[in-house]
Amino acid sequence: MRKKIVAGNWKMNKNLADTGVLLSELKVKFKEQPTAEIIVAPTFTNLYYAFEELKQSGIKVAAQNMHQAESGAFTGAISADMLKSIGVQIVILGHSERRAYFGETDVLLAEKVKTALKHEMTIIFCFGEELEDRKSGNHFKVVESQLKNALFDLDASDWKVIVLAYEPVWAIGTGETASPEQAQEMHAFIRKTIADTYNTETADEVSILYGGSVKPANAKEIFAKPDVDGGLIGGAALDAESFAAIANAF
Ligand code: PGA
Repeated sequence: MRKKIVAGNWKMNKNLADTGVLLSELKVKFKEQPTAEIIVAPTFTNLYYAFEELKQSGIKVAAQNMHQAESGAFTGAISADMLKSIGVQIVILGHSERRAYFGETDVLLAEKVKTALKHEMTIIFCFGEELEDRKSGNHFKVVESQLKNALFDLDASDWKVIVLAYEPVWAIGTGETASPEQAQEMHAFIRKTIADTYNTETADEVSILYGGSVKPANAKEIFAKPDVDGGLIGGAALDAESFAAIANAF
């Protein structure tokens, strides 16, 4: 059975003190392991601290991004080796904000994916269509090409460490959520595309998370869909109560 996962993407929020407060609250909330695997992704400056704080808990820590190069003259960048050296094994790649504000393309993301695989990291790979794509009925095509360009030249065995996060851009931070039916329709399409490209076993094993304005009020309905294996949570992950309510919505 594929894993259920609820991951919190903290984005550029929470300084060191605020991170400490939220981590303490999360440790209490998740004293008992929920059905889903729980992951939090604080900002780089607090990753080491978060990793140390959560070591004895069941909560895992992810980075929000990393550079594709091994090391060198890339001012401001963070490498896979740096993340691994502080214990971080999971990285979010391809978030729509990275694509939109930092110019990350499918080609660049394909490189980042390869670097992460080389370092045996787990990858939460984000993708999703923009509002225009959905309005023009191109959403399936856009999603398929994002997957194809960044992931479909990998070996089937590489997919063991890949988690997909379908995040329609129009639903991120907007309060507008894809309906559970829209999420299921796209997740089923993604799984079928993987089955057609690889095989059914690979498609059945990959966890596909939904992201975009998931809240305690809508999580249960979304997570109940057969091809939705959890969520990537932004805004609601910044509050322990809300995040725990979402994580317990399975
Ligand atoms: P949101 O963000 O939950 O605030 O919409 C989701 C994400 O960007 O991963």
